Amino acid sequence: GSEGTDYFVADDHLAGSVFRPRKEFSHKGNHGKAVIIGGSYGKLGAAVLATQSALKTGAGLTFTIAPACGYEILQSTCPEAMFIEGGKQFITGFEADEISTYGIGPGLGTDPETEKCLLHFLKKYSRPLILDADALNTVAKKTENVKLIPENSIITPHPKEFERLFGPTKDSFERLALARKKAKELNIYIVLKDHHTQIITPEVAVYYNITGNAGLAKGGSGDILTGILTSLAAQGYSPEQACVLGVWLHGRAADLAAEKHSKESMLPSDVIDELGAVFKELN
Ligand code: AMP
Ligand code: MG
Repeated sequence: GSEGTDYFVADDHLAGSVFRPRKEFSHKGNHGKAVIIGGSYGKLGAAVLATQSALKTGAGLTFTIAPACGYEILQSTCPEAMFIEGGKQFITGFEADEISTYGIGPGLGTDPETEKCLLHFLKKYSRPLILDADALNTVAKKTENVKLIPENSIITPHPKEFERLFGPTKDSFERLALARKKAKELNIYIVLKDHHTQIITPEVAVYYNITGNAGLAKGGSGDILTGILTSLAAQGYSPEQACVLGVWLHGRAADLAAEKHSKESMLPSDVIDELGAVFKELN
């Protein structure tokens, strides 16, 4: 049942109250380290979009861990980010520290070696992560793997990925109910991506996002959200704040991109380009 649940609308007022303007005397060391882990041969674009989004959301330092085949692509499309090799054609190994914030999944692929490497990492890493796309698809291959998701992590499944993780539901109401159960059980934040994306906290509060439009119904849109969330979490926003502000930013940038280019023609990269205008609204 929904008794005692807090339902909120994530609107511009809420986003504005969460947003913290940059301090005049800050330096890059005050704005966190965001690390995107993703990309595989033929899917480097997803890692590029996530990395660019992390940069455009204000992280102090941004890194991409990607396979070597993405080296030139990433260094030329994201010169502000640092590249760390994590394999040859796909990711087969990477190291993680205790101070960076990791967003894992965009374009990662599901090569058995990548999956093995990710599951091995999840078994020993216990700090909060942002998990999306193929990172979620890998976890979904065994039901008990969901317990490997560190507490206070943010996961960003679209409806299909949600079903793979937690099983089928007959409609969006049942899906939300199951998401609330799992967010509480696993002590994680679930960003249930949809037309009106829902954010579910471990305390089972639900935020409905009202920004965004059908121009986002294109490959690459979700990768941008992962980059935004990773960047905000790296900058010290709590998981709940990062989700509320990040999902709102993503949708608002998409609305500005649609005004400029139309829902048909707007591309995920146009959404990234509008992030600056959205931050100007907040500042
Ligand atoms: P993904 O499926 O991982 O690429 O993620 C798609 C992103 O675009 C999510 O943030 C969705 O909420 C958003 N999105 C997709 N379709 C729509 C739509 N029709 N209206 C609003 N947002 C959408
Ligand atoms: Mg996706």
